Amino acid sequence: MAIDFTPDVMVCGAGCAGIAAALQAARRGAKTLLVERAGFSGGIITTVGLPFFDGIARKHDKKIVHRGIGLEFLVKMGVCKASDDTVYAHNPVIRNIERFKILLDELITAEPNLRVLYHSFVADTVTKGNRVDEVLVANKGGIQRFRPKTVIDCTGDADVAARSGVPCETSPELMPLTLHFRIGHVQNNPELRQRCREVLVKAHEEGKLKNFYGPGVSFMFANDEVYLHAIRVKANPLDPEDLTRAEMQGRIDAWTMYELWKEKVPGFENSYYIQSGPYIGIRESRRILGQYILTEEDIKNEKKFPDAVATGNWYLDLHPNYATVGSANVKPGGLGGLDGYQPDHYDIPYRSLLPRKIDNLLVAGRCHSATRLAQSSSRVTVTAMAMGQAAGMAAALASEKQKNVQEMDGVKVREALDQIHAGPFAG
Ligand SMILES: Cc1cc2nc3c(=O)[nH]c(=O)nc-3n(C[C@H](O)[C@H](O)[C@H](O)COP(=O)(O)OP(=O)(O)OC[C@H]3O[C@@H](n4cnc5c(N)ncnc54)[C@H](O)[C@@H]3O)c2cc1C
Repeated sequence: MAIDFTPDVMVCGAGCAGIAAALQAARRGAKTLLVERAGFSGGIITTVGLPFFDGIARKHDKKIVHRGIGLEFLVKMGVCKASDDTVYAHNPVIRNIERFKILLDELITAEPNLRVLYHSFVADTVTKGNRVDEVLVANKGGIQRFRPKTVIDCTGDADVAARSGVPCETSPELMPLTLHFRIGHVQNNPELRQRCREVLVKAHEEGKLKNFYGPGVSFMFANDEVYLHAIRVKANPLDPEDLTRAEMQGRIDAWTMYELWKEKVPGFENSYYIQSGPYIGIRESRRILGQYILTEEDIKNEKKFPDAVATGNWYLDLHPNYATVGSANVKPGGLGGLDGYQPDHYDIPYRSLLPRKIDNLLVAGRCHSATRLAQSSSRVTVTAMAMGQAAGMAAALASEKQKNVQEMDGVKVREALDQIHAGPFAG
């Protein structure tokens, strides 16, 4: 059953960047369609079960650097107030992922200009000249064809851009994939974390676990519930068969950890495995080659761009994969330790959301135009939301002015964001 709708703006992927893009485009008055492969919005936060809002505030003084939709989410989740200048941590958490799903549904349905299709996968595009002419979506209605004026690719993997012939980069070494999981009825005690780690180190030595992190045991959601991001699977998330293998590997590794801890670690005797996130999490895959490529030097020098439309502030956060595990400075459970540079805050220019070759496409979130190391910072949740909001604003403005997004002046996009107290941090 096809839906009869010709959007001004079509947002592909309702993750961190996509939900912000769709809300912003619709609030500005553009007829907007949001399409998401999962049955809910939220991207990494809900598809993996990750509660962290990194990128909202500076590390040293916790000053809020993104006052847009990312902050609105935190306020509506009861983490802080809209009038606050600071937040309790530079990576605050929301306490309930299910409530967040419902909040996003409420915000979507409150927007008369916004329609959403869940359980819908953007499978392909048809281009004409330098434009995306049609976007093909596979869902229970069959293959549906949409002809939006502007498309915003927020798939994380730059699926729309790649299908449309936009040049993209993929690093030969990719950060590992991680399945998050939770264990209930755990009795916390001072030795718990150390014992958990010792068990994993031994399991790794015995060949029961190829890789792991931390394990980063944290009592995030309740005082007897452990939340873990200990899984590390090397895989190519763009290869469907390898991604399938990674999901299976993540599941079995998580279960192995649970069983070992239940058997060997005091505090886990009466524990039970609650669940893993619905999807394994992908940190990096494609990055588009855009009109500007954000670099680690830009981040380190905190370079100012006149067309800055978003602010980043996370450190260069590259996780090691198998290729580096076992090398001199990386242990199986460790982080990369490659750089770790902590910026105060930095500009993300509009041009890094503009792909080469296609005129009516924007790309926001972890697949925007950046070097691998720069992306290891700009990929985090709130920074992705900030990019998405900027893309949504640019697409809506382009529709108002009957221009394509390549013709839009990033300075004007920034000014429009300023008018609603969003956009880059003014210092
Ligand atoms: C395991 C893990 C842990 C992380 N830890 C942190 C952390 O602690 N703090 C932090 O701030 N960041 C963290 N990150 C990074 C950060 O969460 C992501 O980089 C961020 O989610 C990027 O936002 P995005 O919108 O680009 O992608 P996502 O949030 O992943 O959204 C992409 C959306 O597109 C949908 N989609 C994909 N392809 C299609 C398609 N073809 N058709 C339709 N829909 C599609 C997906 O289902 C998803 O909803 C972590 C990442 C991972 C993987």
